[in-house]
Amino acid sequence: MTDCVFCKIIAGQIPGSLVYEDQEVAAFRDINPQAPLHVLIVPRRHIATLNDLTEADDAVVGSMFRAAAALAKRHGYADRGYRTVFNTNREAGQTVFHIHLHLLGGRTLGWPPG
Ligand code: AMP
Ligand code: ZN
Repeated sequence: MTDCVFCKIIAGQIPGSLVYEDQEVAAFRDINPQAPLHVLIVPRRHIATLNDLTEADDAVVGSMFRAAAALAKRHGYADRGYRTVFNTNREAGQTVFHIHLHLLGGRTLGWPPG
């Protein structure tokens, strides 16, 4: 999609701090980090919200979670703990409409979330 900031980062059209890439998934540091480790894991293919997922996306969503776990492990947070979050639409605070899995680690994370 031409007007999507995450599609542009994946395509190298705007800068992003990439930390992981494979055929289906990319991950880059959040520009406004909320924890010492705050990475966004995204599918290369544009999908606006979780509401738009179909059965054909099952594999890519699995890859996103496996990438999150691998990144958490790489940074030493696998045992300490970390959080993975998808925000969907207005009340959850979704601001970028290309699905992204937030990976947060490196501090104690409160629950329930705000
Ligand atoms: P959400 O509120 O779940 O839609 O999260 C969107 C996230 O994208 C926020 O945490 C933003 O800080 C982050 N973000 C927005 N633009 C960029 C960008 N150009 N590079 C990296 N992260 C971004
Ligand atoms: Zn996109």
